[in-house]
Amino acid sequence: MKKVVIMGGGIIGTMHAYLALKEGYSVIQCEREQIARSASIRNFGLIWVSGREVGAELEMALRAREIWGEVGAAVPATGFRANGSITIARNEAEWQVLQEAAAMPDADLRGFSLLVKEEVTALEPVLAGDFIGGLRCTQDAAAEPNRLLVSLREYLKADENYRWMPNFDVMDFYHSETGNHIIDVKGQTISGDLMVMCPGSSHQGFLSSFFADAPVRRVRLQMGATVPLPAKLGHSVADGDSLRYYPAFKDLSLAALPPQSEIAARRKMQLLMVQRLDGTLTIGDTHEYDEPFDHEILEEPYEHLSGVISAIFGRTAPVVSRRWDGVYSQSTSSETYFRKAIAPGAIVVTGGGGRGNTLSPAIAEETMIQWR
Ligand SMILES: Cc1cc2nc3c(=O)[nH]c(=O)nc-3n(C[C@H](O)[C@H](O)[C@H](O)COP(=O)(O)OP(=O)(O)OC[C@H]3O[C@@H](n4cnc5c(N)ncnc54)[C@H](O)[C@@H]3O)c2cc1C
Repeated sequence: MKKVVIMGGGIIGTMHAYLALKEGYSVIQCEREQIARSASIRNFGLIWVSGREVGAELEMALRAREIWGEVGAAVPATGFRANGSITIARNEAEWQVLQEAAAMPDADLRGFSLLVKEEVTALEPVLAGDFIGGLRCTQDAAAEPNRLLVSLREYLKADENYRWMPNFDVMDFYHSETGNHIIDVKGQTISGDLMVMCPGSSHQGFLSSFFADAPVRRVRLQMGATVPLPAKLGHSVADGDSLRYYPAFKDLSLAALPPQSEIAARRKMQLLMVQRLDGTLTIGDTHEYDEPFDHEILEEPYEHLSGVISAIFGRTAPVVSRRWDGVYSQSTSSETYFRKAIAPGAIVVTGGGGRGNTLSPAIAEETMIQWR
């Protein structure tokens, strides 16, 4: 039985572990923290097919969505649910873009349908504010980021061929004729036939040579969560600002959109919102591209998001009770993510950007196919 070593306990590493066990490998997965606590638990938990670029990226997202369905069925504690999404148009120009999106040749693949306001409200009574209509996407789904990794880990641990090694902070790698090896800060070594490093946005330390001149950058986001909404909101929700960020819509009539609000433009914001199983709403986000990143959590994005939510709800948004930030690694080339061979049988995989959670099972599957 071939041994696979995975560095990184985030969703990319964990999906590699999940699929590698299914492929019949024995798996050791290590993580520098007690539990992984970076991008994969700080995100919305969205599996977001609707915004993916026409062509290869959409195909990958659809395949990922299929595997997510299998993962969700195998591990219900992930909170995976095919809840769908609604992108809301609050002005005529946004509505025009949504109409064009609903008429795209691949609209059926994405599960798109156009809903006038009354239809949106009939589906989601909470969405009763001042808007024209929405674009529903039945392929979009969500999982619970705060339960996802823990529940997948428990599932994996039940397999005798899986070993989890937390607090293993890798500081070096080498390849020899016996395989691939990583060494942690305490001098412990893990060896395997195959190795995949999934470090997320940690591009530094011993990894820095693998990232020299690599087409990846880091992006910082601000997020928040409200107190529980005393009503159910099944679908995830996006506002019209999201149309500017998702490549699916790049050839539509975006030039006719009115300027974003000053704060949304300055902080590169959109509204994404998903109700957690405890009733709270996860909301965001901002985008910061220039390093060094600001170390502060700023208040003005939350004031903006609360205003947009209140307009879409037609009543005051629930109060924001928690705030955090997160950093992801994003490919800046035409490749959907960053994959680099560093030695025979050893690769670095990251750079999934704001779609890393969505694509994670398909990214891991591409590794499995290469290893066959
Ligand atoms: C705020 C925010 C919101 C987002 N929302 C979404 C969303 O809704 N949908 C979506 O598809 N994507 C979303 N994303 C993107 C997505 O979360 C990421 O692309 C994805 O989680 C990346 O997973 P990862 O496993 O590569 O990285 P990470 O989650 O960062 O995990 C990497 C792990 O590797 C470990 N590690 C690093 N170096 C070492 C070392 N030397 N030794 C041992 N361990 C090491 C780290 O401790 C970490 O736990 C969002 C990201 C952010 C930040």
